[in-house]
Amino acid sequence: MTARAGTIYLVGAGPGDPKLITVHGREVLETADAVVHDRLISPELLKLARREARIEDAGKTPGRASRSQAEINELLIELARERLSVCRLKGGDPFVFGRGGEEVLAARAAGIPVVVVPGISSALAGPAAAGVPVTHRGVESSFTVVTGHDAQSAAGAGVDWERVAATPGSIVVLMGVGNLETIARKLIQGGRRPDEPVRVVERATLPEQRVVSGTLATIGAIAEESDVEAPAVIVVGAVVGVLEQGAAT
Ligand code: SAH
Repeated sequence: MTARAGTIYLVGAGPGDPKLITVHGREVLETADAVVHDRLISPELLKLARREARIEDAGKTPGRASRSQAEINELLIELARERLSVCRLKGGDPFVFGRGGEEVLAARAAGIPVVVVPGISSALAGPAAAGVPVTHRGVESSFTVVTGHDAQSAAGAGVDWERVAATPGSIVVLMGVGNLETIARKLIQGGRRPDEPVRVVERATLPEQRVVSGTLATIGAIAEESDVEAPAVIVVGAVVGVLEQGAAT
C-alpha cells in the first residue's frame, strides 16, 4: 500500500528492535510524505522513510525545550492539511500510554482521516525478550499493565496500587524505574509477598538490553546498584523465572 495524501497514520513502531514494526507500519513509513516520530524511535527505522520525506522529531522544537501534546496535534493536522500523507511513528503501540487517543481525537475534530496501525507494546515485548511469559498455564492466567510514573505523587494520582496488588496475575509496570523502590513497597503493602520475583528489562529488544532480577523486597536496591535506567519494563510475579532451568513448575 501507499500512504494516502491528507491522512494521518498512527503507527506503532514496536518496542525498540527495528524489525519489530509491523508490515503495515513499515509500508506507511516507507511511503509517507512526512514522518513525525517519538524520541525513542530507532534511527534504523527512520532510514526507511523516503529521502524527500519531511522528518520531525515530535520531542524537539528548534530553540525550545520540547513540543507540548497540543503542539504535536497541531503539527500533525497542519501537515495533513498541506495534503501530505503523515506517518506519526510512536514507540510500542500507539494506544499504550502513548497519548495516541488524544491525537486521534484532535485529528477527527479537524476533519482529518486517521488510520491506526497497532504495534508491539514494550509491555509485552519487554517481559518476552527477558524470557518471561506474562501468562503461563498453572502459574498466572492474567496480567495488569500499569504506569509507575506517578507512584510517588499524592494520593489520588493515577494508579491504585493496593488494588493492583490485590488483583491476581502478573503485573507489568511501564515508566516505573525511577520509582521502583516505592512501587515495590506499595505492592507489598497491598498484600504481595516480599519474596515475589521481579525482573527489570532495560532497553528491551535492543542490542544494549540489560536484565536484572530480584524480589519485591530486594529489587529496589539491586536496580539502583546496577544503575538501571529508563526505558525499562518491570514485571512482577511467579512467571518470572518460570522458564529458567530448575524452576518449579
Ligand atoms: N507506547 C509504548 C509505551 C510508552 S510509555 C509501548 O507500547 O511500548 C514509555 C515507557 O515504555 C518507558 O518508560 C518504558 O517503561 C517502556 N518502554 C518503551 N520502550 C522500551 C524498551 N525498549 N525497553 C524497555 N521498556 C521500554
